[in-house]
Amino acid sequence: MSSILEADEEGVKLAASEIKAGRLVAFPTETVYGLGANGLNGEAVLNIFKVKGRPSDNPLILHIANKNDVKLLASDIPEYVYELIDKFWPGPLTVVLKAKDIIPKEVRAGLDTVGIRFPVNKIARDIIKSSGVPIAAPSANISGRPSPTNFEDCYNDLKDKDISVVRGGSTDIGIESTVLLCTDYPPRILRPGKVTAEDIAKLIGACDDFMESEAVEEAPRSPGQKYGHYMAKKKTILLDMLPGLADEVLYKINPNATFILSRDNRFEDENKIVLAKYDDPLEASKRYFHALRKADNMPGELIVVQAYSKEGIGKALFNRMIKSASGNVMEDVDEDWIW
Ligand code: AMP
Ligand code: MG
Repeated sequence: MSSILEADEEGVKLAASEIKAGRLVAFPTETVYGLGANGLNGEAVLNIFKVKGRPSDNPLILHIANKNDVKLLASDIPEYVYELIDKFWPGPLTVVLKAKDIIPKEVRAGLDTVGIRFPVNKIARDIIKSSGVPIAAPSANISGRPSPTNFEDCYNDLKDKDISVVRGGSTDIGIESTVLLCTDYPPRILRPGKVTAEDIAKLIGACDDFMESEAVEEAPRSPGQKYGHYMAKKKTILLDMLPGLADEVLYKINPNATFILSRDNRFEDENKIVLAKYDDPLEASKRYFHALRKADNMPGELIVVQAYSKEGIGKALFNRMIKSASGNVMEDVDEDWIW
Protein backbone atom coordinates (compact mmCIF):
# COMPACT_ATOMS: atom_id res chain seq x y z
CA MET A 1 0.00 0.00 0.00
CA SER A 2 1.12 3.55 -0.64
CA SER A 3 1.44 5.86 2.34
CA ILE A 4 -0.13 9.28 2.73
CA LEU A 5 1.96 12.29 3.75
CA GLU A 6 0.31 15.48 5.00
CA ALA A 7 1.37 18.73 3.34
CA ASP A 8 2.90 20.16 6.53
CA GLU A 9 6.50 20.67 7.62
CA GLU A 10 6.83 17.10 8.80
CA GLY A 11 5.29 15.70 5.58
CA VAL A 12 7.56 17.82 3.39
CA LYS A 13 10.61 16.59 5.32
CA LEU A 14 9.53 12.98 4.95
CA ALA A 15 8.80 13.46 1.25
CA ALA A 16 12.24 14.97 0.71
CA SER A 17 13.98 12.12 2.54
CA GLU A 18 12.10 9.57 0.42
CA ILE A 19 13.30 11.37 -2.72
CA LYS A 20 16.88 11.49 -1.42
CA ALA A 21 16.71 7.76 -0.66
CA GLY A 22 15.77 7.02 -4.29
CA ARG A 23 12.06 6.35 -3.69
CA LEU A 24 9.01 7.85 -5.38
CA VAL A 25 6.73 10.59 -4.03
CA ALA A 26 3.58 11.94 -5.69
CA PHE A 27 2.98 15.60 -4.86
CA PRO A 28 0.87 18.53 -6.09
CA THR A 29 2.11 21.24 -8.44
CA GLU A 30 0.03 24.15 -9.75
CA THR A 31 -0.60 22.23 -13.00
CA VAL A 32 -1.35 18.61 -11.99
CA TYR A 33 0.00 16.12 -9.43
CA GLY A 34 3.48 14.83 -10.32
CA LEU A 35 5.14 11.49 -9.61
CA GLY A 36 8.63 12.48 -8.49
CA ALA A 37 12.04 10.87 -8.09
CA ASN A 38 15.59 12.13 -7.62
CA GLY A 39 16.31 13.45 -11.12
CA LEU A 40 20.03 12.71 -10.84
CA ASN A 41 19.49 9.05 -9.94
CA GLY A 42 18.83 6.99 -13.09
CA GLU A 43 17.61 3.94 -11.17
CA ALA A 44 15.10 5.94 -9.14
CA VAL A 45 13.87 7.59 -12.35
CA LEU A 46 13.47 4.19 -14.03
CA ASN A 47 11.01 3.32 -11.29
CA ILE A 48 8.74 6.19 -12.40
CA PHE A 49 8.39 4.51 -15.80
CA LYS A 50 7.63 1.16 -14.12
CA VAL A 51 5.00 2.52 -11.75
CA LYS A 52 3.22 4.57 -14.43
CA GLY A 53 3.60 2.02 -17.20
CA ARG A 54 5.12 4.88 -19.19
CA PRO A 55 6.78 4.16 -22.56
CA SER A 56 10.55 4.42 -22.05
CA ASP A 57 11.03 6.85 -24.97
CA ASN A 58 8.88 9.57 -23.36
CA PRO A 59 11.19 11.95 -21.44
CA LEU A 60 10.50 13.52 -18.03
CA ILE A 61 10.57 17.11 -16.84
CA LEU A 62 13.08 18.11 -14.14
CA HIS A 63 11.57 20.34 -11.44
CA ILE A 64 13.80 22.88 -9.73
CA ALA A 65 13.20 25.51 -7.03
CA ASN A 66 15.83 28.07 -7.98
CA LYS A 67 16.15 29.78 -11.37
CA ASN A 68 19.95 29.53 -11.32
CA ASP A 69 19.83 25.73 -11.24
CA VAL A 70 18.96 25.79 -14.93
CA LYS A 71 22.64 26.54 -15.57
CA LEU A 72 23.70 23.43 -13.67
CA LEU A 73 21.48 21.19 -15.77
CA ALA A 74 21.59 22.69 -19.27
CA SER A 75 24.26 24.06 -21.62
CA ASP A 76 24.19 26.46 -24.61
CA ILE A 77 21.28 28.37 -23.07
CA PRO A 78 20.09 31.09 -25.51
CA GLU A 79 19.86 34.62 -24.01
CA TYR A 80 16.11 34.81 -24.62
CA VAL A 81 15.57 31.88 -22.24
CA TYR A 82 16.66 34.07 -19.32
CA GLU A 83 14.00 36.62 -20.30
CA LEU A 84 11.40 33.85 -20.41
CA ILE A 85 12.27 32.40 -17.04
CA ASP A 86 12.46 35.84 -15.46
CA LYS A 87 8.87 36.43 -16.50
CA PHE A 88 7.26 32.99 -16.33
CA TRP A 89 9.12 31.23 -13.50
CA PRO A 90 8.01 30.06 -11.10
CA GLY A 91 5.09 28.88 -13.22
CA PRO A 92 3.66 26.50 -15.82
CA LEU A 93 6.40 26.83 -18.49
CA THR A 94 8.86 23.99 -19.24
CA VAL A 95 11.93 24.94 -21.29
CA VAL A 96 13.63 22.22 -23.32
CA LEU A 97 17.39 22.85 -23.56
CA LYS A 98 20.58 20.99 -24.40
CA ALA A 99 21.23 18.64 -21.47
CA LYS A 100 24.44 18.57 -19.47
CA ASP A 101 26.10 15.18 -18.95
CA ILE A 102 25.03 14.91 -15.30
CA ILE A 103 21.47 14.26 -16.42
CA PRO A 104 20.76 10.52 -16.54
CA LYS A 105 19.64 9.15 -19.89
CA GLU A 106 16.49 7.82 -18.19
CA VAL A 107 15.29 11.42 -17.65
CA ARG A 108 15.99 12.41 -21.25
CA ALA A 109 14.70 9.12 -22.68
CA GLY A 110 17.84 9.04 -24.78
CA LEU A 111 17.44 12.58 -26.24
CA ASP A 112 20.26 15.13 -25.92
CA THR A 113 17.83 17.69 -24.49
CA VAL A 114 16.15 18.08 -21.11
CA GLY A 115 12.87 19.73 -20.04
CA ILE A 116 13.17 21.97 -16.96
CA ARG A 117 10.49 23.75 -14.93
CA PHE A 118 10.28 25.77 -11.70
CA PRO A 119 6.80 25.20 -10.24
CA VAL A 120 5.03 27.87 -8.20
CA ASN A 121 3.13 25.50 -5.87
CA LYS A 122 4.57 25.95 -2.37
CA ILE A 123 4.41 22.29 -1.39
CA ALA A 124 6.27 21.30 -4.58
CA ARG A 125 8.90 24.00 -4.04
CA ASP A 126 9.45 23.05 -0.41
CA ILE A 127 9.90 19.36 -1.30
CA ILE A 128 12.38 20.23 -4.08
CA LYS A 129 14.34 22.62 -1.84
CA SER A 130 14.41 20.23 1.07
CA SER A 131 15.54 17.28 -1.07
CA GLY A 132 18.39 19.34 -2.56
CA VAL A 133 18.12 17.69 -5.99
CA PRO A 134 16.13 18.38 -9.15
CA ILE A 135 13.01 16.20 -9.09
CA ALA A 136 12.06 14.33 -12.27
CA ALA A 137 8.27 14.21 -12.33
CA PRO A 138 5.75 13.37 -15.02
CA SER A 139 2.04 13.62 -14.26
CA ALA A 140 1.15 11.14 -11.50
CA ASN A 141 -1.49 9.18 -13.45
CA ILE A 142 -1.11 5.64 -14.74
CA SER A 143 0.04 6.12 -18.35
CA GLY A 144 -2.82 6.96 -20.71
CA ARG A 145 -5.23 8.12 -17.96
CA PRO A 146 -6.25 11.71 -17.20
CA SER A 147 -3.70 13.56 -15.06
CA PRO A 148 -4.70 13.76 -11.37
CA THR A 149 -5.80 17.21 -10.26
CA ASN A 150 -6.63 16.44 -6.64
CA PHE A 151 -5.31 14.16 -3.91
CA GLU A 152 -8.08 11.56 -4.17
CA ASP A 153 -7.64 11.03 -7.93
CA CYS A 154 -3.89 10.78 -7.44
CA TYR A 155 -4.11 8.32 -4.55
CA ASN A 156 -6.66 6.20 -6.42
CA ASP A 157 -4.26 5.67 -9.31
CA LEU A 158 -1.26 4.92 -7.10
CA LYS A 159 -2.57 3.30 -3.91
CA ASP A 160 -1.20 -0.16 -4.76
CA LYS A 161 2.23 1.07 -5.80
CA ASP A 162 3.97 1.27 -2.44
CA ILE A 163 5.03 4.87 -2.79
CA SER A 164 4.26 8.08 -0.84
CA VAL A 165 1.48 10.47 -1.86
CA VAL A 166 1.29 14.00 -0.44
CA ARG A 167 -2.24 15.17 0.46
CA GLY A 168 -2.09 18.59 -1.16
CA GLY A 169 -5.61 19.61 -2.20
CA SER A 170 -6.67 20.56 -5.73
CA THR A 171 -4.31 21.95 -8.35
CA ASP A 172 -4.92 25.50 -9.65
CA ILE A 173 -4.49 25.15 -13.39
CA GLY A 174 -5.58 21.57 -13.96
CA ILE A 175 -3.65 20.91 -17.18
CA GLU A 176 0.05 20.33 -17.67
CA SER A 177 2.72 22.96 -18.35
CA THR A 178 3.53 24.48 -21.73
CA VAL A 179 6.55 22.60 -23.16
CA LEU A 180 8.77 24.96 -25.17
CA LEU A 181 11.68 23.80 -27.33
CA CYS A 182 14.38 26.44 -26.79
CA THR A 183 17.38 25.04 -28.67
CA ASP A 184 16.85 27.55 -31.55
CA TYR A 185 15.23 30.92 -32.08
CA PRO A 186 12.33 31.29 -32.31
CA PRO A 187 11.40 28.70 -29.71
CA ARG A 188 8.61 26.27 -30.52
CA ILE A 189 5.71 25.01 -28.45
CA LEU A 190 5.76 21.20 -28.27
CA ARG A 191 2.81 20.95 -25.90
CA PRO A 192 0.37 23.83 -25.36
CA GLY A 193 -0.38 25.01 -21.83
CA LYS A 194 -1.43 28.10 -19.90
CA VAL A 195 1.55 30.11 -21.17
CA THR A 196 0.71 30.68 -24.85
CA ALA A 197 2.74 31.39 -28.02
CA GLU A 198 1.34 34.96 -27.93
CA ASP A 199 2.53 35.44 -24.33
CA ILE A 200 6.01 34.29 -25.36
CA ALA A 201 6.16 36.25 -28.63
CA LYS A 202 5.12 39.42 -26.80
CA LEU A 203 8.20 39.09 -24.62
CA ILE A 204 10.91 37.84 -27.00
CA GLY A 205 9.58 38.80 -30.44
CA ALA A 206 8.55 35.43 -31.90
CA CYS A 207 7.40 31.94 -31.02
CA ASP A 208 6.31 29.05 -33.23
CA ASP A 209 2.96 27.84 -32.03
CA PHE A 210 1.94 24.25 -31.44
CA MET A 211 0.24 22.69 -34.47
CA GLU A 212 -2.21 19.95 -33.60
CA SER A 213 -1.92 18.44 -37.10
CA GLU A 214 1.89 18.27 -37.07
CA ALA A 215 2.18 16.87 -33.58
CA VAL A 216 2.16 13.22 -34.61
CA GLU A 217 4.75 13.64 -37.40
CA GLU A 218 6.84 15.64 -34.94
CA ALA A 219 6.78 12.81 -32.42
CA PRO A 220 10.58 12.41 -32.18
CA ARG A 221 10.87 16.01 -30.92
CA SER A 222 7.88 15.79 -28.66
CA PRO A 223 7.65 12.12 -27.76
CA GLY A 224 4.70 12.56 -25.41
CA GLN A 225 2.47 13.69 -28.26
CA LYS A 226 2.40 10.34 -30.02
CA TYR A 227 0.82 8.32 -27.23
CA GLY A 228 -2.80 7.85 -26.17
CA HIS A 229 -3.30 10.32 -23.39
CA TYR A 230 -5.73 11.72 -20.82
CA MET A 231 -8.27 8.98 -21.56
CA ALA A 232 -11.30 7.93 -19.56
CA LYS A 233 -12.08 4.20 -19.57
CA LYS A 234 -15.18 4.75 -21.71
CA LYS A 235 -15.18 5.77 -25.34
CA THR A 236 -15.21 9.57 -25.53
CA ILE A 237 -16.52 11.86 -28.26
CA LEU A 238 -15.71 15.56 -28.62
CA LEU A 239 -18.24 17.99 -30.11
CA ASP A 240 -16.09 20.75 -31.65
CA MET A 241 -18.92 23.18 -32.37
CA LEU A 242 -20.71 25.99 -30.60
CA PRO A 243 -22.96 24.85 -27.73
CA GLY A 244 -26.15 25.70 -29.66
CA LEU A 245 -25.21 23.40 -32.54
CA ALA A 246 -24.05 20.71 -30.15
CA ASP A 247 -27.45 20.88 -28.44
CA GLU A 248 -29.15 20.21 -31.79
CA VAL A 249 -27.03 17.11 -32.30
CA LEU A 250 -27.65 15.90 -28.77
CA TYR A 251 -31.43 16.42 -28.87
CA LYS A 252 -31.58 14.63 -32.23
CA ILE A 253 -29.50 11.63 -31.17
CA ASN A 254 -29.95 11.55 -27.43
CA PRO A 255 -27.23 8.96 -26.85
CA ASN A 256 -26.95 6.79 -23.78
CA ALA A 257 -24.03 8.72 -22.32
CA THR A 258 -22.62 10.95 -19.63
CA PHE A 259 -22.22 14.53 -20.88
CA ILE A 260 -19.43 16.97 -20.01
CA LEU A 261 -20.92 20.23 -21.25
CA SER A 262 -20.60 23.99 -20.89
CA ARG A 263 -22.93 26.28 -18.99
CA ASP A 264 -24.17 27.51 -22.39
CA ASN A 265 -25.46 24.12 -23.51
CA ARG A 266 -29.21 23.77 -23.13
CA PHE A 267 -29.27 19.98 -23.51
CA GLU A 268 -30.62 18.51 -20.28
CA ASP A 269 -29.82 15.06 -18.97
CA GLU A 270 -29.43 13.77 -15.45
CA ASN A 271 -25.97 12.46 -16.35
CA LYS A 272 -24.54 15.86 -17.10
CA ILE A 273 -21.42 17.54 -15.71
CA VAL A 274 -21.06 21.30 -16.34
CA LEU A 275 -17.51 22.69 -16.30
CA ALA A 276 -17.82 26.42 -17.04
CA LYS A 277 -19.18 28.92 -19.54
CA TYR A 278 -18.12 28.23 -23.14
CA ASP A 279 -15.82 31.27 -23.22
CA ASP A 280 -14.16 30.44 -19.90
CA PRO A 281 -11.59 27.75 -20.83
CA LEU A 282 -9.51 28.72 -17.78
CA GLU A 283 -12.19 27.44 -15.41
CA ALA A 284 -13.00 24.47 -17.68
CA SER A 285 -9.31 23.46 -17.68
CA LYS A 286 -9.30 23.27 -13.89
CA ARG A 287 -12.15 20.82 -13.91
CA TYR A 288 -11.81 18.72 -17.06
CA PHE A 289 -9.59 15.83 -15.96
CA HIS A 290 -11.56 15.22 -12.79
CA ALA A 291 -14.79 15.32 -14.81
CA LEU A 292 -13.48 12.55 -17.10
CA ARG A 293 -12.74 10.36 -14.10
CA LYS A 294 -16.15 11.11 -12.62
CA ALA A 295 -17.91 10.38 -15.93
CA ASP A 296 -16.39 6.88 -15.90
CA ASN A 297 -18.41 6.19 -12.75
CA MET A 298 -21.68 7.59 -14.10
CA PRO A 299 -24.22 5.75 -16.31
CA GLY A 300 -23.94 5.33 -20.08
CA GLU A 301 -21.50 3.64 -22.40
CA LEU A 302 -20.11 6.82 -23.79
CA ILE A 303 -18.77 10.20 -22.68
CA VAL A 304 -19.77 13.19 -24.81
CA VAL A 305 -17.65 16.34 -24.34
CA GLN A 306 -18.44 19.92 -25.45
CA ALA A 307 -15.37 21.84 -26.70
CA TYR A 308 -14.62 25.35 -25.38
CA SER A 309 -13.36 28.60 -26.85
CA LYS A 310 -9.77 28.13 -28.09
CA GLU A 311 -8.58 31.54 -26.86
CA GLY A 312 -5.65 31.66 -24.42
CA ILE A 313 -5.42 28.45 -22.41
CA GLY A 314 -8.32 27.21 -24.59
CA LYS A 315 -5.86 25.92 -27.17
CA ALA A 316 -4.26 23.69 -24.54
CA LEU A 317 -7.63 22.52 -23.23
CA PHE A 318 -8.68 21.64 -26.79
CA ASN A 319 -5.45 19.62 -27.21
CA ARG A 320 -6.25 17.61 -24.04
CA MET A 321 -9.87 17.14 -25.14
CA ILE A 322 -8.96 15.85 -28.63
CA LYS A 323 -6.49 13.40 -27.13
CA SER A 324 -8.92 12.20 -24.49
CA ALA A 325 -11.40 11.55 -27.30
CA SER A 326 -8.69 9.64 -29.26
CA GLY A 327 -9.44 11.91 -32.20
CA ASN A 328 -13.22 11.15 -32.23
CA VAL A 329 -14.27 14.68 -33.07
CA MET A 330 -17.55 15.90 -34.61
CA GLU A 331 -17.43 19.36 -36.16
CA ASP A 332 -20.75 19.47 -37.94
CA VAL A 333 -24.40 18.70 -37.22
CA ASP A 334 -24.67 16.72 -40.47
CA GLU A 335 -21.82 14.34 -39.75
CA ASP A 336 -22.76 10.78 -38.93
CA TRP A 337 -22.69 10.10 -35.22
CA ILE A 338 -19.43 8.29 -34.47
CA TRP A 339 -20.14 5.37 -32.18
P1 AMP B 1 4.17 14.67 -18.43
O1 AMP B 1 5.13 15.15 -17.40
O2 AMP B 1 3.61 13.31 -18.22
O3 AMP B 1 3.13 15.69 -18.60
O4 AMP B 1 5.01 14.60 -19.76
C1 AMP B 1 6.07 15.49 -20.02
C2 AMP B 1 5.95 16.01 -21.42
O5 AMP B 1 7.10 16.81 -21.71
C3 AMP B 1 5.89 14.92 -22.46
O6 AMP B 1 4.99 15.29 -23.46
C4 AMP B 1 7.32 14.86 -22.96
O7 AMP B 1 7.41 14.34 -24.27
C5 AMP B 1 7.73 16.34 -22.88
N1 AMP B 1 9.19 16.46 -22.72
C6 AMP B 1 9.91 16.28 -21.59
N2 AMP B 1 11.22 16.40 -21.83
C7 AMP B 1 11.35 16.65 -23.14
C8 AMP B 1 12.46 16.84 -24.02
N3 AMP B 1 13.71 16.78 -23.59
N4 AMP B 1 12.21 17.07 -25.31
C9 AMP B 1 10.93 17.11 -25.77
N5 AMP B 1 9.84 16.93 -25.00
C10 AMP B 1 10.04 16.70 -23.70
MG1 MG C 1 1.40 13.07 -18.43
